[in-house]
Amino acid sequence: MNILLHICCAPCAIYPVKILRAEGLEVMGFFYRHNIHPFTECLKRQEALASYAQTTSLRVIYQEGYDLEGFIQKIAFRESARCSICYHERLKATALMAKHGKYDYFSTTLLYSKFQKHNEIKAIGESVGKTVGIQFYYHDFREGWQEGVETSKGLGMYRQQYCGCIYSEKERYFKSRMLTIEPIEPFNNLTI
Ligand code: SF4
Repeated sequence: MNILLHICCAPCAIYPVKILRAEGLEVMGFFYRHNIHPFTECLKRQEALASYAQTTSLRVIYQEGYDLEGFIQKIAFRESARCSICYHERLKATALMAKHGKYDYFSTTLLYSKFQKHNEIKAIGESVGKTVGIQFYYHDFREGWQEGVETSKGLGMYRQQYCGCIYSEKERYFKSRMLTIEPIEPFNNLTI
């Protein structure tokens, strides 16, 4: 039996790949790129994954192209629902590829993250699987959170500081930067 596993980044792939292999599945990775901004960050994550994949003999399909514009257009005016839209886009792309490639299952490393909306990812995966006609493989990979963190650090793997999209980059850095930036004359009497 084989499975197409959507991989968001190398650190998040370590534990799911180990478990899926232990369960007897042949794993093929799929790296989705449109939601990772800017492009230089996307390349850093892709390179980290390629390097890890080589050490563990994991085959990976790297998405072609980089549709940042299409991603932003889907989110615009629906920013509060952006993660739901993003999960759906990534899982739908994975399911369609898995169906086309005649895989038995599809799944995602998003199920490993303690910072993602786990139940929603599961629900979207199952729904997309029914629509496309391929089974979504569910496992609560969060049980291996600490193991994955320690392994990735031990390997010196690149570990990103924000989820992926430009909105999440702002959430990660904007508030903390604003607290430390000293206003410059003549604006130092204004509230920003
Ligand atoms: S924060 Fe993460 S899950 Fe949410 S839209 Fe951005 S990349 Fe997607």
